[in-house]
Amino acid sequence: MRFDVLTLFPGLFGSFLAESLLAKALARGLVSVEIVDIRDFAPDRHRTADDRPFGGGPGMVLAPGPLSAALDSRLSLPGPVPLVIHLTPAGRRLDQALARELAARRRLILVCGRYGGVDRRVAELYPGLELSMGDYVLNGGEVPAMAVIEAVSRLVPGFLGERESLEGESFSEGILGAPLYTRPRVFRGLEVPGILLSGNHREIDLWRRREAARLTRLGRPDLLDPDLRGNRGSAVDPREDREPGKDPRGGEGKG
Ligand code: SAM
Repeated sequence: MRFDVLTLFPGLFGSFLAESLLAKALARGLVSVEIVDIRDFAPDRHRTADDRPFGGGPGMVLAPGPLSAALDSRLSLPGPVPLVIHLTPAGRRLDQALARELAARRRLILVCGRYGGVDRRVAELYPGLELSMGDYVLNGGEVPAMAVIEAVSRLVPGFLGERESLEGESFSEGILGAPLYTRPRVFRGLEVPGILLSGNHREIDLWRRREAARLTRLGRPDLLDPDLRGNRGSAVDPREDREPGKDPRGGEGKG
């Protein structure tokens, strides 16, 4: 899987690419990431890539010239036909199903906007996917680009080591994942559910499935019922879903 990232701030990607599983996948050649500085395609010696908006208003706009030249430089490379992804709050929201679709591609070009946004003509001249991270506004497309790279890369076969797996993960089967626990068995009065210490893997598996379904019903009912989509999440704290009067910390009733 290959990613080309077009950005005004290439330095932001330094440690992102140099750490953890992604660094390993890059070293093994499972994934490749090319960071392209849009300013390298600016026509002037000040490397100007933005301009004031027509019609007035605050904020600068990424100009179409340097960005188009940067896109052309990537599109003219040999290899699999890339999908151009325009990162914008106005796009389709990223979810696991879309991440799977993107992982089926072999090459993605991620266009990071900044300032007030990108001249609209770029998305018209380079049709692809307009993609949003969610209904909030970030300073630029770099964090969304990193999210796409992570969400897609970890679906590439071989990316996850033996110690990690997609199995049982949130959204892998359309629902949330089950809660996880590690040592110590009792922490600040809270005990690990006994079933997880039983060694009975069939029962543990059943418990995890039940817990995943319960937490999904409470926290994300929209995942189970498409009619609820758009009404994401609920006001109910899943931790509140316990038998009345039963204290989760082992029945001591502390406060
Ligand atoms: N003025 C724009 C608007 O109202 O939609 C917001 C511009 S934002 C400050 C600058 C850039 O950050 C955008 O061009 C886009 O690339 C990126 N960005 C911000 N929020 C985003 C989000 N939720 N999803 C994807 N990209 C986002």
